[in-house]
Amino acid sequence: MCKCISCGKLVHIKKIQCGHFVSRRKLSTRFLKENCFPQCYGCNVGQNGNYASFARQLQETYGSEIIKELDDKAKVMGKFSAVDYLEIIGECMHQVNRALCDKGIEKWWNETGIEKTILKIYEKTYL
Ligand SMILES: [Zn+2]
Repeated sequence: MCKCISCGKLVHIKKIQCGHFVSRRKLSTRFLKENCFPQCYGCNVGQNGNYASFARQLQETYGSEIIKELDDKAKVMGKFSAVDYLEIIGECMHQVNRALCDKGIEKWWNETGIEKTILKIYEKTYL
């Protein structure tokens, strides 16, 4: 189960969504871990992000300046190269695998050949 950052509701991991405090349209903050949190469908879609609660939880986790920091970062024009995307994908896959392993959850999907290759390169390069 995953906990929604906004309302605290526990949602099955297969049904949880990735809520972005700053819109995912802003590339410079789109993949920041400080901007991306598990969120239930009701908060993410139904309440358009449920931002008041989202903001309170972010501030409790990262301090009162986090909202301004994210807003400032969002103003910078973000641009990623293909290599940047591969690095981000590799890091995300590695973190997901670690979290699943820590919680004793088996993967319910099969990684494609390219995903396995990206993960292998990421782990070889950065770990
Ligand atoms: Zn929620």
